[in-house]
Amino acid sequence: MPKVPPGEAAHFFSGPARDPEKPAPGNAYGVSAERRHPRAQTTMFETMPVSPHLLPTYARVDLAFERGEGAWLFTASGERYLDFASGVAVNALGHAHPVLTKALTEQAQKLWHVSNLYRIPGAERLADRLCAASFADVAFFCNSGTEAIEGAIKMARKYQAVSGKPERYRIVTFEGAFHGRTLAALSATGNKKYLDGFGPPVEGFDQVAYGDLEAVKKAITPETGAIMIEPVMGEGGVRVVPHGFLRALRQLCDERGLLLIFDEVQSGIGRTGALFAYEHSGVTPDIMALAKALGGGFPVGAVLGTSEAAKGMTAGTHGSTFGGNPLAMAVANAVLDIINTKEFLSQVQQTALRFKQRLAELRDRHAGVIAEVRGEGLLMGLRMVPPAAAMVDELRAENMLVPAAGDNVVRLLPPLIIGDTEIDFAVDAIDRACARLAQMHAPKQGAA
Ligand code: PLP
Repeated sequence: MPKVPPGEAAHFFSGPARDPEKPAPGNAYGVSAERRHPRAQTTMFETMPVSPHLLPTYARVDLAFERGEGAWLFTASGERYLDFASGVAVNALGHAHPVLTKALTEQAQKLWHVSNLYRIPGAERLADRLCAASFADVAFFCNSGTEAIEGAIKMARKYQAVSGKPERYRIVTFEGAFHGRTLAALSATGNKKYLDGFGPPVEGFDQVAYGDLEAVKKAITPETGAIMIEPVMGEGGVRVVPHGFLRALRQLCDERGLLLIFDEVQSGIGRTGALFAYEHSGVTPDIMALAKALGGGFPVGAVLGTSEAAKGMTAGTHGSTFGGNPLAMAVANAVLDIINTKEFLSQVQQTALRFKQRLAELRDRHAGVIAEVRGEGLLMGLRMVPPAAAMVDELRAENMLVPAAGDNVVRLLPPLIIGDTEIDFAVDAIDRACARLAQMHAPKQGAA
């Protein structure tokens, strides 16, 4: 039964009903968002229109979940879905992981929040551990990826200012990147669609084509202070940045007195089979943004930096009311307990290898549907021939959830704890979805 308090439902869901025959707004493929598996049962909750009081900034699918367990999500009527979206790379340990649940509930019984006016032992412990496991000397905790990016931008600008070069506030970024939804993060991304109508973008970002070293060199002026990049571009289509390009950026930064910022909000915390994706390249940044999997589903973000890069961030220069609060820190420490072990990370690598091999077979069998399998570890993408949105819909009809990305890519972001049962289910679902898409998109007989 839906979790709507009796008596409140009529008031809360009193908005105009959406025509179920009409495609959901924003559904590029034009398939009704209500499209479900033939066996799917509709819950009472799902027959109600989305509350008109919820700002309609998302084109939501009419699907709600009551609980989760491992890689599976369950609707109120008990229908189960394989979750290869993981809340967009957040639920790295799946749903309702007993260790995380215990850490959260034990902390909840002791202390939730005190503010950073006082010491927070969990935050000190997490900072020590993240620094021990990375290039960094210091960490700042916040609540989301975009807030971590804001912190990273501020840290880079402040570094240049206290180094006697306040004019070096500009940051070179890359076309097709995604850094979040605050005004500075959007301006760093430079995506006109997301900036339109929100007034002047934040000044100081210069986008260049990804992979183009000459363009990066040209974009660097006496006002440039940093270069920011995702080692694996997630939203931009799961593009693994060539290690040689990262090395060249590092060298350029060292030669020109610039800071290198890595956005590992999506790629960090085990997703690629290393704790941080930069480890695969051997290139270390000066500053790094983290979020998503760091809290395993509890909102938390972090900015890590070397002590040199962070030298301007003294008392009073930055803050966050909720950042690093005891609840978030208890969960993030528990996430690290599990993910930051050799055994766990090598398990992720092996799982990713097995899954990638099976996906390569599917690509060979459905060459007219899947153009390419790409990614690093369990941050994977299928570049599609038909629209990626069509594949997302077809997989949902197979009770498998995946998000799309740029460059016509369907992302596969399973919880890192998946095993052969989940891989088999996913491969079968993708196989059947591809077969249907191949039929739908087959050239019409007799067509010119
Ligand atoms: N950076 C990257 C690489 C991301 O993928 C995202 C979100 O998808 C963000 C930043 C923004 O994170 P958040 O949505 O937590 O603000």
